[in-house]
Amino acid sequence: MNHSEGSFVKVSEKYEAPAHVDLRNRDYCRWVEFLRESDGWNRQHIEDYQLEQVRQAVKFAYENTRGYKALYDKFGVSPDTIQTIDDLRKLPFIEKQMIRDNLEDFSANIDGRYYVTTGGSTGVPCGMYRDQKSFAKELASKAHQYYRVGWKEGDRQFVLRGLQIATGDRMELVPDFNELRCSTYHFTSESMEIYRQRALTYEPEWIRCYPSSGYVFARFLKETNRSFPKIKGILCASEHLYDFQKKLFSEIFDARVFCHYGHYEMAVLAGFCEYEDTYHVLPQYGYAELIGEDGKPVVEPGHIGEIVGTSFIMKATPFVRYKTQDLAVLKGFGCSSCGRPYQIWERIEGRLQELIVTGKGRYVSTSMLNMHDDFYDHIKYFQFYQKEQGKVVLRFVPKQTCNRQVVEDMKRALLLKMGADVELTMESVGEIALTKRGKHRLLVQEMENEYNDLSLGFALRL
Ligand SMILES: [Zn+2]
Repeated sequence: MNHSEGSFVKVSEKYEAPAHVDLRNRDYCRWVEFLRESDGWNRQHIEDYQLEQVRQAVKFAYENTRGYKALYDKFGVSPDTIQTIDDLRKLPFIEKQMIRDNLEDFSANIDGRYYVTTGGSTGVPCGMYRDQKSFAKELASKAHQYYRVGWKEGDRQFVLRGLQIATGDRMELVPDFNELRCSTYHFTSESMEIYRQRALTYEPEWIRCYPSSGYVFARFLKETNRSFPKIKGILCASEHLYDFQKKLFSEIFDARVFCHYGHYEMAVLAGFCEYEDTYHVLPQYGYAELIGEDGKPVVEPGHIGEIVGTSFIMKATPFVRYKTQDLAVLKGFGCSSCGRPYQIWERIEGRLQELIVTGKGRYVSTSMLNMHDDFYDHIKYFQFYQKEQGKVVLRFVPKQTCNRQVVEDMKRALLLKMGADVELTMESVGEIALTKRGKHRLLVQEMENEYNDLSLGFALRL
């Protein structure tokens, strides 16, 4: 590749990429194949598969972890309790806090497991163990959903994500994934123009982004009336996609916008289909329940419930009837457009895009601050608070292991992500108030935010 500036011949970056790294992973390829074969299963076939998988998940958790065994013994249930899928409801829920405070008890000692930690979208940090095989299935499941809109491994991708990139232009080309990664930590007009220029020669087929970062970029293109290469689609993740964002993406890129819901715990995955912008819950991945405020399953279309997931692929830290604290609105069972007899959700709530406004008026999504760092091992809860542009307070409930050094390190890491035009105050507190629905909010903002749109008013009403 030619990086020399001012060369007269533009060297095309449309080259044959080496085989996508995932295609060299046997577990990935096997799971892709299984998902392809099972894509046409009818309702009965899916129900049989799910019952079998739920039974296996419960049995595995009971026989391989102290935490599940003790909990189920206390409730007088066991793997034999599950005779029909409805019997799953006899099992107690697992809360995030239970895993966070008793991780070893709720984990299985399997070979090759490794520790990951996430701040989550809710301000409740949670560490867990994963293994490579499960993660390969996770990637394959996401790919399986992307295939529906024409994506394939090796396609050129323009990636706007909350990544720190040390190169001079804050971009890097990653051949293993054929991704041109652009840092959104430095999302100024100047850097966006540099990214755009590079895209003109790279000619991406897809944009991958958080809805919030894609929106900022699309608005830059619209306001400056600049062109972008024709793409096949936009793949969004990690945040709720608002209608006003989808509208702008369609207007600027004239391409399909694809969105999915997933989480670190790998219990529930749901994505759009070929035709509809609704969340199709992938039945081979996990068993998803929507539980209403009354504690009963949501069966009425249009009603909202908390997503409770039982993972079929996580082994190192199993998740059985795990309360995600994310909310979804039921659309029904079966998609009339694609014919898949899956559980369908109208929309996801509780994955709000929350944007901190920096001193210079940049927007930093809290998704970018969702550090996968060790700090989360030392705090119970956290929340950002902003009343004034450029000034942010991080409130946190410390664990006993939290000391001054941890707090200083955390502050430094956060400031690196937020930028120099943010004044950050660390505030240790005894507790953090919940919303009316008993959820944690990641950001509480008492200021006008011009980024907001009228449609946010509805989504924010949790
Ligand atoms: Zn469909």
